[in-house]
Amino acid sequence: MNNHENNVVIIGGGPAGSALGCYLSKAGIKNTIYEAANHPRDHVGESMVMSSVRVFDEIGFLPVMEREGFVRKYGASWHPPIAKGEAAIAFNEFPQESIRQDYTYHVDRKKFDLLLLKHAESLGTKVYQGIGATKVLFDENNYARGIQIKVAGQELEVPARMVVDASGRNTLLGKQLKVKKTDPIFDQFAVHAWFENVDKSQVDSSEYIHIYFLPVQRGWAWQIPITHEVTSMGIVAEKEVFKGAKLGPGEYFDKYVASNPDLAHAMRDARRVNEFKMEGDYSYKMDTFAGNGFVLIGDAARFVDPIFSSGVSVALYSAKYSSERIVEAFKSDDFSEANLKPYEVKLRSGIDIWYEFIRLYYKLLPLFTHFISSKEHRVEVLRLLQGEVFDRREVPVLDAMRKFIKIVETTPNHVFAGQLSDIPID
Ligand SMILES: Cc1cc2nc3c(=O)[nH]c(=O)nc-3n(C[C@H](O)[C@H](O)[C@H](O)COP(=O)(O)OP(=O)(O)OC[C@H]3O[C@@H](n4cnc5c(N)ncnc54)[C@H](O)[C@@H]3O)c2cc1C
Repeated sequence: MNNHENNVVIIGGGPAGSALGCYLSKAGIKNTIYEAANHPRDHVGESMVMSSVRVFDEIGFLPVMEREGFVRKYGASWHPPIAKGEAAIAFNEFPQESIRQDYTYHVDRKKFDLLLLKHAESLGTKVYQGIGATKVLFDENNYARGIQIKVAGQELEVPARMVVDASGRNTLLGKQLKVKKTDPIFDQFAVHAWFENVDKSQVDSSEYIHIYFLPVQRGWAWQIPITHEVTSMGIVAEKEVFKGAKLGPGEYFDKYVASNPDLAHAMRDARRVNEFKMEGDYSYKMDTFAGNGFVLIGDAARFVDPIFSSGVSVALYSAKYSSERIVEAFKSDDFSEANLKPYEVKLRSGIDIWYEFIRLYYKLLPLFTHFISSKEHRVEVLRLLQGEVFDRREVPVLDAMRKFIKIVETTPNHVFAGQLSDIPID
């Protein structure tokens, strides 16, 4: 075998690709990241859940997070539509196994993604930036055996023992294999930008993520502190809501800021410091996350609605779990789909829990605040919100939520009856 054939080629140097590079380099497996962009580059997805801390610790990245002074995230808070007020949770209410701190982080993704990529490089990962993969190459036995890249207008082939697609929402391999399925329920659309001078005097903690419900179908807004001066603000609703409004991004954003009293208050003297950005078509999954000689990780495998800030955590855990199977594949010299499939099973079951939680949440918005206010369910909800979705066979709180929804559906004049959405949950 030549040098290249020992190598794992990773397409994309976002959190998924870089974390995988770290795990593989630590395990002594040669790996190379081809990243189409040149870091630092902008990216949405700035607030993390607690479980991410475990991965940072495992790959030795926690000291970097601390050194760089990212804003510490101690909890989360939800603000109702129309009325003022908030329902908050603090992460220290549910201590997590092998996590020795009670906070996670909000990040400027330009800085975070660059640092994580550099960390992978420091552990031994070879990194090429500004070089995009154009397709994954398969051999005569239908095993992925390399990628095609484009350099200075020329197509070149890079052989590899295994290929990992970590290309994010670009979903390079999913599209190539035609295994990408758009989500049948969620078709959300986001408009977001950074602001200075956001008024946080009314809220419980300025370092929490704040979610504001909006009085529109599946509508909410995020408030994420990027630094102590700069705050990321985003408006999310069905794509139809944006289209129907027939407004430019700025006017659309302002319209929905004005629709929630707490949000309007927070934004009354705010000054925008960068351009509005828009994100759409972001809920989908691939029919397969693992095949002969390849795996798909992070957003390249599946994307669920970002209401609970799950994306970076899923990206990091997909790296962790896929690395375990890749290490095993090198040990046994077996790169078959069957040998890599346990990764898919594990990741899929964890993301399914996120998805179900999100679906029930959108089905009946007040259910969520009702459950986090309840003594019986609060800790279980908290556990999900902190990202503990992997390696779980049962999640009783989701059954309890389903039962509660059934009661609302079948009880005439139930106080929440008017708030049920049309999302199917059976
Ligand atoms: C509206 C919205 C809000 C969100 N909010 C949150 C949040 O608060 N918290 C959270 O955790 N997540 C959030 N997310 C999700 C989060 O952005 C993603 O889940 C996360 O970035 C996934 O990481 P990744 O490494 O899989 O993909 P990415 O971060 O997208 O990285 C993929 C990398 O691959 C590169 N690439 C693409 N194509 C190629 C190619 N052909 N060749 C080489 N390189 C390529 C790209 O340049 C990119 O750097 C949000 C998403 C959306 C849409």
